[in-house]
Amino acid sequence: MFQITLERLQTTACEPYDYLIVGAGFAGSVIAERLAAGAGKRVLLIDRRDHVGGNAYDHLDAAGVMVHRYGPHIFHTNAQRIVDYLSRFTQWRVYEHRVLAQVDGHLLPIPINLDTLNGLFGLSMNEAEAETFLAQRAEPVSMIRTSEDVVINQIGRELYEKFFQGYTRKQWGLDPSQLDKSVTARVPTRTNRDDRYFTDSLQMMPLHGYTALFERMLDQPGIEVLLGVDFTTVRERSRFRHVIFCGPIDEYFGFCLGRLPYRSLRFAHETLPQSQFQPVAVVNYPDPTVPYTRITEYKHLTGQVHPMTSISYEFPCAEGDPYYPIPRKANAELYQRYKALADATPGVTFLGRLGTYKYYNMDQVVGQALALYQRIEQATLAEEQVSVAAGK
Ligand SMILES: Cc1cc2nc3c(=O)[nH]c(=O)nc-3n(C[C@H](O)[C@H](O)[C@H](O)COP(=O)(O)OP(=O)(O)OC[C@H]3O[C@@H](n4cnc5c(N)ncnc54)[C@H](O)[C@@H]3O)c2cc1C
Repeated sequence: MFQITLERLQTTACEPYDYLIVGAGFAGSVIAERLAAGAGKRVLLIDRRDHVGGNAYDHLDAAGVMVHRYGPHIFHTNAQRIVDYLSRFTQWRVYEHRVLAQVDGHLLPIPINLDTLNGLFGLSMNEAEAETFLAQRAEPVSMIRTSEDVVINQIGRELYEKFFQGYTRKQWGLDPSQLDKSVTARVPTRTNRDDRYFTDSLQMMPLHGYTALFERMLDQPGIEVLLGVDFTTVRERSRFRHVIFCGPIDEYFGFCLGRLPYRSLRFAHETLPQSQFQPVAVVNYPDPTVPYTRITEYKHLTGQVHPMTSISYEFPCAEGDPYYPIPRKANAELYQRYKALADATPGVTFLGRLGTYKYYNMDQVVGQALALYQRIEQATLAEEQVSVAAGK
């Protein structure tokens, strides 16, 4: 990976870059790689953080344990082509994510399954009995609008309160009754013993971590990486033909229409003098009296063997880095107004989770970046054909 400094950027008098790409997460790094390696473009990729990888960044902590600085990132997808693309830059370790929830003094599988129900209620139901059990508790809601409606309609109020209400209130700072139905619509309830958190056909972790994957991806002739600087600084000190902006779209426009609301997170990282802390990578704490939402133990994700272990507590908060776009109707409407502004602004394309104000998993962001590359390739081809036809 070829890194440059701001000083070098300022002193090098050269041709403009073809692209200035803002944000070295999955969105920015994938499009940078494609434009450089696929189309021979000259790209400057910047990030205000002092590392590449965006929120997927991982590193060895002071004790030498591999941790994810911005919370646990598990790769899962149904798209083989996304895995094929990323496999150019990494080998993989097989990993299926399992999560437990601490409820009423029990550690129980989440999403709720047969073992969750039997463990919580001290029963020994089979699958058919569990289906009847849930059907008896479900409280049909005629018009499902909110996250609360989704869950109560499926499993009833008691399980909703134990597993969802407290967690969602902490996570979003809002009651599920105030949140769009999409927030909990993704959470399945099972009556079998499947305890996988995700059901995607492809689930894995990069063998040497995400940062190593990014470093290989960006190690291409044509890509220069500049870290620890903001777009506003670079935009004044370099020349470029086009910007691909993977930061917050409202920030790009100086928040002229108001701020798009985000939920943020604070992580408290700790290293412990023991080889294991908890039985799985993530334990959720729906209890409203516990201030954090979950604890992650990274060695389960990475497979690292080490005499110590590192964990992180996750505290959702209102202020801080923008992590989760808040899914409410008014916010979606405000985003549409920014999008209209973006569509009317030549020379810049918005990409990624912050650029399009939508919660995407990593595989979806990779897909979004590959799709953008395809559009750029087709547009370039069309321009070339016009030039040839015009005899230029
Ligand atoms: C806690 C948490 C856990 C997650 N877990 C998973 C998971 O298990 N599996 C999964 O598939 N997905 C997960 N995700 C989602 C995943 O993080 C995103 O899909 C992915 O990070 C999106 O990539 P991106 O490039 O769009 O954004 P980011 O990774 O956020 O990268 C954007 C980059 O732009 C930089 N930037 C922004 N503005 C500027 C500016 N003005 N100037 C310079 N730089 C700027 C930022 O510093 C940042 O590094 C999780 C997200 C969070 C928050």
